[in-house]
Amino acid sequence: MHGVNSSLRPFGATIFAEMTRLALAHDAVNLGQGAPDFDGPEFVKEAAIRAIRDGRGQYARMTGLPELNGAIAERFEKTTGIEIAPETQTVVTCGCTEAIVDAMLGLLEAGDEVILFEPFYDSYPAAVAMASGIAKVVTLQAPHFRIEESALRSAVTARTKIILVNTPHNPSGHMLDDDERQLIARVANECNLIVLSDEVYEELYYAKPHRSLALEDGLRERTVVLSSLGKSFSFTGWKIGWAIGPAALVAAIRAAHQFTTFCAPTPLQVAAATALRAPDSYFTDFRCEYKRKRDLLAEGLRQCGLAPIVPEGSYFILADHERFGFQDDFAFCRFLVEKVGVAAIPPGAFYKNKQHARTLARFAFCKREDTLGAALDRLQRLPECARHYRSTAREA
Ligand code: GLN
Repeated sequence: MHGVNSSLRPFGATIFAEMTRLALAHDAVNLGQGAPDFDGPEFVKEAAIRAIRDGRGQYARMTGLPELNGAIAERFEKTTGIEIAPETQTVVTCGCTEAIVDAMLGLLEAGDEVILFEPFYDSYPAAVAMASGIAKVVTLQAPHFRIEESALRSAVTARTKIILVNTPHNPSGHMLDDDERQLIARVANECNLIVLSDEVYEELYYAKPHRSLALEDGLRERTVVLSSLGKSFSFTGWKIGWAIGPAALVAAIRAAHQFTTFCAPTPLQVAAATALRAPDSYFTDFRCEYKRKRDLLAEGLRQCGLAPIVPEGSYFILADHERFGFQDDFAFCRFLVEKVGVAAIPPGAFYKNKQHARTLARFAFCKREDTLGAALDRLQRLPECARHYRSTAREA
């Protein structure tokens, strides 16, 4: 029988599809997949509708609609002060996930090594494998998830080509601090590495502002910054992403992009250009609302006996469930969706060394306050449900 090839077989089905299926089957409140249950802003929707009505229904330019490449460069310049030539230094993709695959396909030779930090977003190792690369995994330890110099240095070899970082970080919410960013810059400069910096949660920070990796000494010449519309404008289903970087690296990404999807949907690119030119107040209001959601969920989780690691950024909270005595994160999340009626993600899906995730669960707070409230109402019953579950498990 023919079937899934050997590079993809080890990855199985993504945890997001599985937990969404379980959430539906058990009529659970879904704090699993990081997808908002509210819509993005009207002015962006209107721009997409107008573009469709205006007949913008054909392929866009392969590298992106000029107006969107321009808006990406403008926004990047505004947030970082780095000047970008949109025609050579940007490319529009179908979400950041495609940009990551294109970067691996466009930049790696078979056998080249890519440094990943676990917990990692689950598409990273699959993207490396699809490009016949080899993932070298550095573990970040809870609860701080900081990058340690010795761990990073011991993962670098003569075959290392790329370091892939993510800040603000999914699933921990950690944001790289000055020391960590400088460490990455030192190692990348010394070892002549490319830095891929996944900054899709760049607008979701709650204490200090996000700072792009491209700003560190020597990194501008070797860093590709990846981001998207999905998180910053609550349109995860529009799948508009992009890469920004030195022309030679962007050319490699374009070389793959032209044969993976060729271009992202035209009317949504028109609307994305409008979105990126939103007034500052859009972004401050957005963050303010998210901070309220974060605080509401963190406090609620604490009240029902979980120990949240309050995130500095992103829209996820990892919480420790060790005191409830489950075997691991998968067992806890399965119990939670089936018996308590709340879906979360077992972060083991983001680890190669899954034992590090054993006592954790990831809750998404990109949800309406009434959804978060409904989840917290159900979670009140967690201590009692867990006691009951354990006693029946003992008898069985
Ligand atoms: N990035 C989202 C998350 O971490 C999920 C994206 C997906 O389902 N592919 O929840």
